Amino acid sequence: MTDRPVTMEKIVSLCKRRGFIFPASEIYGGIANTYDYGHYGVLLKQNVIAQWWKAMIQDRDDVVALDSAIIQHPRTWEASGHLAGFTDPLVDCKTCGKRYRADHLAELECGRRPSKHPGEDAQCELTEAREFNLMFATTIGPVAEAGSTVYLRPETAQGIFLDFKQVLQFARRRPPFGIAQVGKSFRNEITPGNFIFRTLEFEQMEMEYFVPPDDAEQWYRHWLAERLGWYARLGIVSERLRLRAHDADELSHYSSATSDVEYLFPIGWQELEGVANRGDFDLSAHAEHSGEKLEFVDQQAGERYIPHVIEPAAGVGRSVLAFLCDAYDEDELGGEARTVLRLHPALAPVKVAVLPLLRKDGHPERARAIYEDLRRHVKAEYDEGGAIGRRYRRQDEIGTPFAVTIDHQTLDDGTVTLRDRDTLAQERVPADALRALLAERLIV
Ligand code: ATP
Repeated sequence: MTDRPVTMEKIVSLCKRRGFIFPASEIYGGIANTYDYGHYGVLLKQNVIAQWWKAMIQDRDDVVALDSAIIQHPRTWEASGHLAGFTDPLVDCKTCGKRYRADHLAELECGRRPSKHPGEDAQCELTEAREFNLMFATTIGPVAEAGSTVYLRPETAQGIFLDFKQVLQFARRRPPFGIAQVGKSFRNEITPGNFIFRTLEFEQMEMEYFVPPDDAEQWYRHWLAERLGWYARLGIVSERLRLRAHDADELSHYSSATSDVEYLFPIGWQELEGVANRGDFDLSAHAEHSGEKLEFVDQQAGERYIPHVIEPAAGVGRSVLAFLCDAYDEDELGGEARTVLRLHPALAPVKVAVLPLLRKDGHPERARAIYEDLRRHVKAEYDEGGAIGRRYRRQDEIGTPFAVTIDHQTLDDGTVTLRDRDTLAQERVPADALRALLAERLIV
């Protein structure tokens, strides 16, 4: 595993070269820890999100969807504990003027002497650590006045708790059941990001699973296994995935047990997703602050209780980065180096490329017709520019699993070449059979 060709630099460079992901506001010199997704990046990200929704609400019937507001009532964050406790310890260096997360010093570079960590050099002068709240504040209304401060959500989960009663009533659910949501969250992170690993705004895929209190432990185990399995099913090599239970001193204020799904990024083992047993902390806190009863009443059994919550919370960008790192490969083709993204077909931004061998002799017309047919069924791309080898390599770099080439023989006997990104096998198949063949091989 140590001889993987992937490095973070190669991923950053491929993402930029092929327009997946690049720094935001670049014409103004960029903005810290903020990135934009281009065409293929958007398609890849959407595929990751689609697979998450599939696992949550298509493959099972005990989870419903929600899309709650980014700006919620400010008391939300009072009740959730974020206003008081969603902080990181911050230190300033009076010598170089830089700011650091006090708990990340061992991973950071000194502003003056990058070979050392902040505080290690004789010249470093670090201040005492002070707590810094990660929520972005803004105001509602044209004037910033008392009581108008609101926050951009630092996690999507709280919107789910606020709507618990609605869902219980209108979706006619009883525990165990879950509410799933995908959306943007915002954190004023101090630590530099490692590309899209840590950004100021990021999408989360979170699901709150409400269970009878006695069943919490069992469902916690269930979701740990489910979530680990999700990444493996989408192609991540299992040796590069692991679960790591939090020590007691790492646990968030709301959690009685948390494990992270970790991935072996080129920068080492890092959290991909957290699975937490949140107990009844959130529903109880919102019930107390709002005066609403947030409980489940079982008419038949004549009992009422506050459900406990198991939460798998994943980041879209971090998953995208893990899928990219895991898929990245280099090999040799005809004596030339090839870079290839061996993405799972379900995640690949484009499933099939249609390429006329020549830009004349009727090849483009025939290729276009095949493309028009295929695109109605799968995400396809038509490309007639440049030598065929270069076009294959371009598709390899964006992870397209199949390429169809149209040549002279196609015009004679109606067959095309079907090229496999991973095996590099080139089969001669009837153009008419393509749709069925691809449907079979792209099944996810
Ligand atoms: P970390 O310890 O890396 O800051 P966390 O434990 O605070 O993360 P959670 O609050 O558990 O993160 O959020 C759930 C998931 O959301 C994380 O596992 C990660 O995938 C994603 N996430 C959190 N913060 C960021 C961020 N700043 N940028 C990108 N993704 C993030």
